[in-house]
Amino acid sequence: MVTREEVRELLNYVAQEGVAVSFYLNMDVHNKDIQDIETKDLIKNARKDLASLNLDRTYLRAAKENLNQIRKSVSSENAGSKYTSMAIFANSAERFFRVYRLPIHVKSKLVIDNAFYVRPLHSLLEEHNRIGVVLVDSKHARFFEIYIGEIHEDLEFSSAGISTRKPLLETFMKREKKLAQKKEDETRSHLSSVADLLKAHFLMHHFDKLIIGAKKPLRDHLSRLLHPQLHENLIGFCEIDIHTRESEILSRALDIKREFELREENKLLREIMNEIERDGYAVKGLKRVIEAAQDHSLQEVAVADEFSHAGLVCPGCGMPYFSEIPPEEKRICVSCGEELTEVADVVYHIVEEAVRQNAMVRHIRGTNLICSLENIAAVIKFKNSEFEKIEEAAETES
Ligand SMILES: [Zn+2]
Repeated sequence: MVTREEVRELLNYVAQEGVAVSFYLNMDVHNKDIQDIETKDLIKNARKDLASLNLDRTYLRAAKENLNQIRKSVSSENAGSKYTSMAIFANSAERFFRVYRLPIHVKSKLVIDNAFYVRPLHSLLEEHNRIGVVLVDSKHARFFEIYIGEIHEDLEFSSAGISTRKPLLETFMKREKKLAQKKEDETRSHLSSVADLLKAHFLMHHFDKLIIGAKKPLRDHLSRLLHPQLHENLIGFCEIDIHTRESEILSRALDIKREFELREENKLLREIMNEIERDGYAVKGLKRVIEAAQDHSLQEVAVADEFSHAGLVCPGCGMPYFSEIPPEEKRICVSCGEELTEVADVVYHIVEEAVRQNAMVRHIRGTNLICSLENIAAVIKFKNSEFEKIEEAAETES
């Protein structure tokens, strides 16, 4: 599985020697021939691209070696693997070769450039928080972690001190009322130890978002006992039996997660719309978002998942530029003076730049709101008019 650190490393990778080859393949577990044919086609096109690049002979040989490695990796992949796609990043000239198997669908693609094409992986990580699911009844608790479509039970959680209290021999002597009181106390202390354990796991970054699976009075009790920071990251409840099978828990949790994401997406898009309407801190459309990137003003970017657009990029600092620069203006990067190069997908470079500016990037799926925002929009840190005022003030001062 790919980690955030690895994605960051891939994002920052620039080939000093040779070329960076990025390969994505959707795998069909039922028909291995199709994936072999698809790979062959992608490699055939890549060979044509390579020929047009005028590479140094050693680098060309290294790049061809990468394509062969990719073909071999695909054909040696076991049929019936539980993963639905694979991603390979390679640069033989720098002895770089990495294979990731992913349990989600990606668009098959082979890209040759001086940096890796990481957008699909990045969007994957962005939208896949680590979800913790805790199932509780009045005596027991189970804890699961869900990440990129896979579920794992944390077996230590249920054995870690929960419900290991000795049964008290004298309880049968007590009157009924007292018994009920004791039971309530036990449930309460059981729930607080669950809440303590959850807090520990959360603070150790074992998960980002939490779902509670329990019957109604219990789940409300537990949610009130949660650490405030954890309570903020509680994304939903489900009424589910503690002995439910993992596959069922996974599917219920993914539904809750999807609903939560839709709520968050809509909230962000509405916030952007309101800001734009009152001429506040947001912009929409490719041109304005690129300008905000150039002002280092990106705070949060919302982009339609399938949206791509041709444009320009600075090969020196990676800054994206809008393609329709008036002919009288030179195609030169304002910050480092390098000549801009044309790229097929400038949106990808906006996402990269946003990551460099520590902005959140949200890949929006299945909503009409993002269409009305021209497929890309951003919350910004400062407005152009503020710059102008600051500059005016500076001029009057001097
Ligand atoms: Zn530059």
